[in-house]
Amino acid sequence: MGDLGWIAYPKNGWEEIGEVDENYAPIHTYQVCKVMEQNQNNWLLTSWISNEGASRIFIELKFTLRDCNSLPGGLGTCKETFNMYYFESDDEDGRNIKENQYIKIDTIAADESFTELDLGDRVMKLNTEVRDVGPLTKKGFYLAFQDVGACIALVSVRVYYKKCPSVIRNLARFPDTITGADSSQLLEVSGICINHSVTDEAPKMHCSAEGEWLVPIGKCLCKAGYEEKNNTCQAPSPVSSVKKGKITKNSISLSWQEPDRPNGIILEYEIKYFEKDQETSYTIIKSKETTITADGLKPGSAYVFQIRARTAAGYGGFSRRFEFETSPVSVAASSDQSQIPIIVVSVTVGVILLAVVIGFLLSGSCCDHGCGWASSLRAVAYPSLTWRCGYSKAKQDPEEEKMHFHNGHIKLPGVRTYIDPHTYEDPNQAVHEFAKEIEASCITIERVIGAGEFGEVCSGRLKLQGKREFPVAIKTLKVGYTEKQRRDFLGEASIMGQFDHPNIIHLEGVVTKSKPVMIVTEYMENGSLDTFLKKNDGQFTVIQLVGMLRGIASGMKYLSDMGYVHRDLAARNILINSNLVCKVSDFGLSRVLEDDPEAAYTTRGGKIPIRWTAPEAISFRKFTSASDVWSYGIVMWEVMFYGERPYWEMTNQDVIKAVEEGYRLPSPMDCPAALYQLMLDCWQKDRNSRPKFDEIVSMLDKLIRNPSSLKTLVNASSRVSNLLVEHSPVGSGAYRSVGEWLEAIKMGRYTEIFMENGYSSMDAVAQVTLEDLRRLGVTLVGHQKKIMNSLQEMKVQLVNGMVPL
Ligand code: AMP
Repeated sequence: MGDLGWIAYPKNGWEEIGEVDENYAPIHTYQVCKVMEQNQNNWLLTSWISNEGASRIFIELKFTLRDCNSLPGGLGTCKETFNMYYFESDDEDGRNIKENQYIKIDTIAADESFTELDLGDRVMKLNTEVRDVGPLTKKGFYLAFQDVGACIALVSVRVYYKKCPSVIRNLARFPDTITGADSSQLLEVSGICINHSVTDEAPKMHCSAEGEWLVPIGKCLCKAGYEEKNNTCQAPSPVSSVKKGKITKNSISLSWQEPDRPNGIILEYEIKYFEKDQETSYTIIKSKETTITADGLKPGSAYVFQIRARTAAGYGGFSRRFEFETSPVSVAASSDQSQIPIIVVSVTVGVILLAVVIGFLLSGSCCDHGCGWASSLRAVAYPSLTWRCGYSKAKQDPEEEKMHFHNGHIKLPGVRTYIDPHTYEDPNQAVHEFAKEIEASCITIERVIGAGEFGEVCSGRLKLQGKREFPVAIKTLKVGYTEKQRRDFLGEASIMGQFDHPNIIHLEGVVTKSKPVMIVTEYMENGSLDTFLKKNDGQFTVIQLVGMLRGIASGMKYLSDMGYVHRDLAARNILINSNLVCKVSDFGLSRVLEDDPEAAYTTRGGKIPIRWTAPEAISFRKFTSASDVWSYGIVMWEVMFYGERPYWEMTNQDVIKAVEEGYRLPSPMDCPAALYQLMLDCWQKDRNSRPKFDEIVSMLDKLIRNPSSLKTLVNASSRVSNLLVEHSPVGSGAYRSVGEWLEAIKMGRYTEIFMENGYSSMDAVAQVTLEDLRRLGVTLVGHQKKIMNSLQEMKVQLVNGMVPL
C-alpha cells in the first residue's frame, strides 16, 4: 500500500513515484512499464471514495502512454491501452473482493502516445480522458486500473460530480442541487422565498445533468413596505430632500427628511462630503439624527454632500449630490490682528466660553449657535475651543462618528493614500473618478508594439484640445470581452490614474464610451527594461545603471507612501524612455499575477512570480512594501546583470528551497560592492530588517553623488570561491571540452588561446578570473561578461545556485 492508501499488485507491477511540489506538498504518480514481458495483469486499486450523495460521478484521468512502435523488440507484447473498473460499497470494508467482481467502466486508450524522441526533447504528451458512471446506489466506491502490458504513467485521477449551485431567482433561493443519475435528466427543485418576500406562484426551477439551472417557474414578491433591489427585498430608498441650515465660513449645517420608503427601521445615516472636484479626499459622518454640522471646512469653498440610510437590511443608495458653499472670509478676519483687538476678543471669548461651558453643564447640550461662535472664534485666540465644540456635539449625539478618508483610507495629515478600486460597488465609477475620458477621435494609432493580456498595445499620438499632439501608448481591449475582462482591464487605469510621479507610468485617460475600449498612457520609447537591457548588454556605465535603479526606487517609495503594494515588481514590468528614465508600470488587481507568464500557481491556489517574491509572500501571502523591497533587490540584480534571468534555469521549487535554506543570488559581474550589499539587505529573511524605499533612494543618491564609492567591486575571486565551497569542480557535467563550451556560448574564437595558455580542461577553466581573461587578450567587455557569466552559471547550477548568507 502506498502513501495514498492505494494497493498495487503484483508487487512488481504499478509503482508509486513520490515527488513534492514547490511548497513541498506531496505529488503521487503511478507508473508501470512491463512491455517486454508476456501476460501482464497489474492492478492498482484506489482507496474508498465517498460519492457524497451523487448518483452519477465523473472520473478524469491524466496519463502518458508510450508508443509501442517506438519500442525496439517490444512490439509482440506491448499494449497501448489499460482498463478502468469500479466496485460500489457502503463502507471501506468491501475492499477484499475478487478481480471479477469489479465492473468495467471502459478500456482507456491514449490520443497521444510518446516516443523515444519525445523523451529526448522532454516533451510528455499528457492525455486527458473522462468517463462517467451511474446510477450509483451505495455510499461510495473503489476504482481500479488494470494494466495488461502497456507503458503508462498515471499522473492524476480526479473524481467529481456536478451540481447546480445555490442561486436566487425571482426572489426565491434554490439550494445546491446535485444533478440526477441520468445524463438527460432534469431535476425539478422548489425555491424558498427570500427574507421579506412571499410566494406569488410556487417558485420552481430545473437542474440539468450538466449542472445548469433551467426553466424558472413561479416567483416571490417583496412584502408590502419592501422593494426589490438586486435580488433582495432589503434596503431603504435614497434620501431625497436635503436642506442647508446655518452656514459659516468653516461649517455647513444640513437637515433632511427620512427616505420616502424606509423599508424598515432606520438605524443610522451616513453622510459623505468632500470639497467640490476633490472627491478622492472625503469625510464620512455617521449620525442617528437627521441633522449634522460639517465643520473644519475651507472658507468660500463649495462642498458636495451625499446621504444614505441604513436599516437592518443594509445601506440604501446614496442620495443625489447636494452642493453648498461656505461663507467667504471676512476682511477683518483675514487682516493682521493688532494686539488690542486680540485682548478684547480674548476677554470676550473667555466670557462666552464660560457661558458655553456652564450652558453645557446645565443643559447637557450645545446649540448650533454656540458651536458656530466657538469655531469662528478659535481662529483668533482659542484653539482649544475646537475640542470643546467637538465634545459638545458628541454629547448631543453620542453615536456620531466622523472619519476622514483619502482614496478610501483613513486620512493621516499630509499623506495621500491609494484607494483600491475593488472598494467601489460600481467599477465604472472608480475608473471615471481616477481617469479622464478621452474621445477616440483624439487618438491616432500608428503601430502595434506589444501584446498585453487583454489585447494589443500600440503606439500612436494624442491631440487634446489646446495642447500639442504628443506620442502615447494605447492598450486596447480585444473584441468579445466579458464584463469581468472589461472591469479588470479598466482596473489598471483606476489604479494608475491615482498616481502622479515621474517614475510611475502616467495615465493620459481612457476611452470607454466607444469601442475598442482603450487605456492611453505616456509613451516609453525603449519599452520594457528587461528586453532593453538584454539588447544593450554591457553598454552602460555603472552610474547610468544606478540612475535607472534610483528612478525605480523613487517610484516605489511613492507607491509605498501611498499604501500601494505592487506584488509584481520585476524588470519586465518597468518601462524605460529615450532619456533612460525608468517608470514602474503594470498595475492590476488580482490579474497582475494572472497575466504574468512568470507567475506560477502555488498549492494555496495563488499565482506568484516565485523568483521575484519574498519568502513570506510565497509561504503565507504576506505581501507588503517590505516584500516589494525584496523584489526590488531582484530588480537591482537584473539591472546590474543586464536582464539575466534570476536564478538562471533553476526550477521554482529549487529556488524556494535554496532561499529558504539561506542561499542568495551571487553578485553580478563587475558589481559595486555597495550595490550588492544593498541587494543582500533587500533579501533579509526578516522583513523588518530590510531597508525601506526611502532609505534605498537616499543610499543610491549618496552613491551617485560620490561615484568613487562605486569603484570597489565585489571581489571576483572571493565570489568564485564562495560558489565553489565544498562542491565538485565545473565541467564534470554539461560540457565535455573547453572548445565545446566556448562554441556553445558563441565564444569559439578563443578556444585556441585558452588551450595554449593551459586552460585545456573544464576544471582548469573553473579557476579563470577576469584578470586572467584580460591577460589572455579577451579585451571586449561584452565577451568577458559572456564568458564569466557562463562560468558562473555553471558553477551556480552545480552548487544548487547561490551564495550562503
Ligand atoms: P503590458 O500589457 O503592460 O505588459 O504591455 C505589454 C508590452 O507593451 C510591454 O512589455 C511593452 O513592451 C509595451 N508597452 C506597454 N506600455 C507601454 C508604454 N507606455 N510605452 C511603450 N511600450 C509599452
